[in-house]
Parts: sequence; C-alpha cells; structure tokens
Amino acid sequence: MKLILLGPPGAGKGTQAKMLTDRFSIPQISTGDILRAAVKAGTEMGLQAKACMDAGALVPDAVVVGIVRDRLQEKDCQAGFILDGFPRTVPQAEALTATLAELGKNLDAVLSLEVDVEALVERLTGRRTCRDCGRGYHVKFDPPQQAGICDACAGELMQRDDDQEATIRKRLEVYREQTLPLAGYYQELGLLTRVDGMQEIGSVQQQLLAALQAA
Ligand code: ADP
Ligand code: ADP
Ligand code: ZN
Repeated sequence: MKLILLGPPGAGKGTQAKMLTDRFSIPQISTGDILRAAVKAGTEMGLQAKACMDAGALVPDAVVVGIVRDRLQEKDCQAGFILDGFPRTVPQAEALTATLAELGKNLDAVLSLEVDVEALVERLTGRRTCRDCGRGYHVKFDPPQQAGICDACAGELMQRDDDQEATIRKRLEVYREQTLPLAGYYQELGLLTRVDGMQEIGSVQQQLLAALQAA
C-alpha cells in the first residue's frame, strides 16, 4: 500500500497515518516529524529548517525532496508507505513522481482530508503531542486520560511552537497558495479521493479504509 495523505495543517493526517500504520504495518513518513527531529538534533539542516517552520513558511523543496528520496529507499518502505505532509508544492509532487518511477514504485491512492478553516484553527490550537513517543492528542477532541500526560508512555504533552494562532493563519495561507493545487495534479493522474475530514476521528478512519478498498 503506497499512499499520500493530503490536506491542510490540522486536517488529521498525522492522526490517521498513525492508525493506518498500525493496521497495514507500513511506515508513516512525515516530513514535519523528520524536520523537527533534525531541529532537535541541532544539525545544519535542522537549523536552516527551523527558521522557515517558526515563520509558518515552507522549507525549501530541495531539502524535503532529498529527505523523502532517501527515506523511500530504506528497507521498511518496500511493502509500502504513508506520506504525511509531503508533497506540499507542485515541484515536490513532480519530484516524487520522478523518484517513484526511478524506484519502480506506483502510488495506490492519494486521499485528501477536507476540513473547514475554522475547524482547522480549533484543532491546531488544541493540539498536544507527547514529548517522548510523539503520540498526538487534542485537549477537547482527543484528550488524554490525565491532563498533560501521555496515555501510552506517561511522557509530558507539549504544544508545538508553530501551533500559535498567528502562525497557524500563516500556514493556512501558505497551504491555500502552494499545496491546494496538488489536488488537481493528482486528480489528473486519476489517484485522488476526497474524504470528509469534518467527521470524528473514527468515522474518518472508516471512510479512509473504504476509499483504500475502492482504490
Ligand atoms: P495534521 O497532521 O493534518 O496537521 P493532526 O493529525 O495532528 O493533523 O490533527 C490536528 C489536531 O486535531 C490534533 O490535536 C488531533 O488530535 C485533532 N484531530 C484529528 N482528527 C480529528 C477529527 N476528525 N476531529 C477532531 N479533532 C481531530
Ligand atoms: P502540519 O501538518 O500541522 O502543517 P507538519 O508537521 O506537516 O505540520 O509541518 C510543520 C512544518 O514543517 C511546516 O509548516 C513546514 O515549515 C515544514 N514542512 C513539513 N513538511 C514540508 C514539506 N513537504 N515541504 C516544505 N516544508 C515542510
Ligand atoms: Zn507518549
């Protein structure tokens, strides 16, 4: 199963990718997670990326395209993968098409999570993430059993630096300008399925599984 989860910041890509990863035993490739790990490790790439991320802007195409090209060649991607947060621009999508052709891999589906802007802002301002295991929560829609503490590993929950309202609005604008055109790109390739991301987490999951069966 080789798929892309498309959708604006806060649409639920990470949440749904984690569930699909468990179900199909294929890795989630989140460029956001990989970039945040590079920031934490203090690598040169991380330092460069941090400035873009804090500003709510995209990291240069060449950087993320290189990350994904390397990642797709790792052994655990042989049976499939879920791309989450990549591609985000048409040049990234074109580079991905070329890389997959080189590696002899074909995408099975591109699933687009559709969510209203105001719901996105509410989701992102209430998003919390475990510092230790990376599991995501929402203070209202997916709360942990004990406030501020991860159910899975008892790690501390934190809020991402870029999940502040001003940065969120900027990211949503960048999404509209640079990422939205990708739906057309994948529609032309006959790969796009739109899913109603406004439903609760479990029913979005059901819709995704149904779309994958139809793909
Ligand atoms: P993305 O990876 O697309 O940016 P996330 O998966 O991190 O989005 O979800 C953003 C926030 O919204 C998280 O706090 C998550 O718990 C919450 N969330 C995800 N899916 C839903 C949903 N269907 N309904 C309500 N909240 C959701
Ligand atoms: P979200 O789904 O909430 O927008 P991500 O974790 O996917 O968050 O991305 C966080 C930030 O990392 C983005 O705002 C951007 O700066 C950078 N980033 C992640 N993926 C890409 C990408 N494919 N291209 C460019 N920048 C990216
Ligand atoms: Zn945890």
